[in-house]
Amino acid sequence: MIKKPNLDWLKTKGHVAEAKARLAEDAAQRKAAEKAPNSIIFGKQDAQGEYDAHRALMTTLGGQHRLITATDLATFRANIKKHQARFASAGITAKQVLSLASSQPIRNPTTGSSDLSRADAEIRVSIPVTAMVTSASGRKSLDVRFQTNAGPNSEVTRHNVLVRFFGYDEQSRALSATPTTGDKPKKAVTPKQAANALRRGYLAFECDCKRHRFFFRYLATAGGFNSGRDELGYPKINNPGLHGVACKHVLRTMAEINSSMPVLGFLERAMNKALLSADNTVRIQQSQADARAMAAKQQASPRVIAALAEAAKQAPKAKRTSHRARKMASSDAETRERAAATLAKEFGMSPEQLLALLARHK
Ligand SMILES: [Zn+2]
Repeated sequence: MIKKPNLDWLKTKGHVAEAKARLAEDAAQRKAAEKAPNSIIFGKQDAQGEYDAHRALMTTLGGQHRLITATDLATFRANIKKHQARFASAGITAKQVLSLASSQPIRNPTTGSSDLSRADAEIRVSIPVTAMVTSASGRKSLDVRFQTNAGPNSEVTRHNVLVRFFGYDEQSRALSATPTTGDKPKKAVTPKQAANALRRGYLAFECDCKRHRFFFRYLATAGGFNSGRDELGYPKINNPGLHGVACKHVLRTMAEINSSMPVLGFLERAMNKALLSADNTVRIQQSQADARAMAAKQQASPRVIAALAEAAKQAPKAKRTSHRARKMASSDAETRERAAATLAKEFGMSPEQLLALLARHK
């Protein structure tokens, strides 16, 4: 079963400053790398065909560490196009992040593990700590800062993930037509509905870890789902095939956004503030005590474990098959399913999630 967590790493105070300091260091190193006389950054214009072969840059495309050739430039461009074709320009959804992490993972050549399996095994908690509204081109987004524990071999104890919910603009406007006094008309949007729309909708993200920096920041930038510094240097060594989509901290966070009741509750709290706010702004900061309480609950949450296990098994059509399967099921299986349904209800899960969880923890 699941081990009881050590939550000493969780620190709500100063989390924004910590994230900003790490990202500022990242940005400074990146700038220096680009300015260096023998810079090895393979920029946007290099990929567009202006690459000078005398620079003798290397790639690992195809599995071997070797010089970049003219054919590689075309392959890089094709990879960019293929990557971009997967996304609406509006961003990515939490569900899509989980499903892409599962369908096109980067596997560790020695252990065979992927970012998703590491998220499942090593990242126990992702807590929303603060929420605030940001504005770009007159459209508002809700920026939620999550904090996760770091993996067992990390030099730090926690990571900070910034998720930008693009649905905020539409949902906060919809709430303007919801009365705050008296009975709510049937068609009025509730903060809970708005929160649900937010978590299912388009978003962007970044993490302050090195995995995000060296493997995924470019993908997020090219795909239109980056909530931080743009990265236009092609990951020719670390991820030339543009595989995977997010680090384990982001994946755990996406699983929470997708399935956890505490995170839904947090978003509902934010949308309730939006409902009552005169200027559509929102500011939430969780106290250390509240964050710890949420973390303790969350780390044993079968819903989220099930969501990760589910994504790991890549079963996007699970519902349809199980419906058909149910129709054909023998009475024996029906009894079993009824028992699972009752139990699932108790845990606030779907029967499919419960079965996935049980299969995993046998
Ligand atoms: Zn990360």
